[in-house]
Amino acid sequence: MKSISVFQLNDGSKIPAIGFGVFQIPNDGATYDAVLNALEVGYRHIDTAVAYFNEEEVGKAIKDSGIPRNEIWVTSKMWLQDYDYVDAKQAIERSLTKLGLEYIDLYLLHQPYGKLAEAWKAMVEAKAAGKIRSIGVSNMTPKIWTKWQQQGLFDDVLPSVNQVEYNPYFQQKELRQLMADNQVTLEAWGPLGQGNSELFSEPLLQSIAAKYDKNVGKVILRFEHQEGMIIFPKSVRKERMQSNLDIFDFQLTSDEMDGIRGLDRGQGRHNPDAPGVQEMLLQAFDVHKNE
Ligand code: NAD
Repeated sequence: MKSISVFQLNDGSKIPAIGFGVFQIPNDGATYDAVLNALEVGYRHIDTAVAYFNEEEVGKAIKDSGIPRNEIWVTSKMWLQDYDYVDAKQAIERSLTKLGLEYIDLYLLHQPYGKLAEAWKAMVEAKAAGKIRSIGVSNMTPKIWTKWQQQGLFDDVLPSVNQVEYNPYFQQKELRQLMADNQVTLEAWGPLGQGNSELFSEPLLQSIAAKYDKNVGKVILRFEHQEGMIIFPKSVRKERMQSNLDIFDFQLTSDEMDGIRGLDRGQGRHNPDAPGVQEMLLQAFDVHKNE
């Protein structure tokens, strides 16, 4: 396996271009096992969140792996229940405690609603204090980004990343241009279309996979990597973890890239601009339910 590429963010930090996502992996030991396995097969970047309820297991696996802290990139995300300034400060401390870390590499505002200015202030201060190395946002559409930028939210500190839904069916063309203009790196959530079987059956992807003697998952991830996206596919199966990481020994041609660009449908599963999303999300995850 060739070594993992690294991308440089607008604050100078260098982030491994591929990581391992732990959304919906339970906190009954499964996250611990998955993260340990992921680190063992070579991942050095883990993407978790307060609302995944598994930060503690992520932290324990990192500790038990014996890998030096500075060799692993850890991302977590603040849930929107905690966007009041005082709550936001506490949320950051709670993540540090749960992860058992002295600093978090990247912390994101998980959802772009509510008191973003208060939460962002707490994030900027935590970054200045060295508790967080890089800060960013998630699920910001062009409309949402533009609204907050016009209100001056990012005048002092620009987000380093915007983590959004992205896969060959939803290539976020308008957002990619906007983020490039602002020097913000895009991270792709659901890079495998969350296992969408229609995507995996696409004849074009299957024929490219056959040509390189690779599986379709690798072709999708390789495409996204060549598009400059940071990706963190999820699997609890060790052989898939390994396969998904091993995408640095082949390169898609510009014709193949154009062909896959043509699969874009311009629409994802989740629309952050839709009415009622904030309320729906607040109901879906109560991060204080066990307190
Ligand atoms: P994903 O696109 O990584 O797909 C995961 C599914 O694909 C798994 O259930 C698995 O069954 C299947 N899969 C994995 N490898 C495969 C392979 N090689 N071949 C065939 N099938 C394969 O979906 P995801 O987990 O939702 O997204 C990845 C990460 O993105 C998450 O774990 C999380 O860290 C992050 N995320 C962030 C947000 C956000 O709002 N910021 C939302 C969703 C996910």
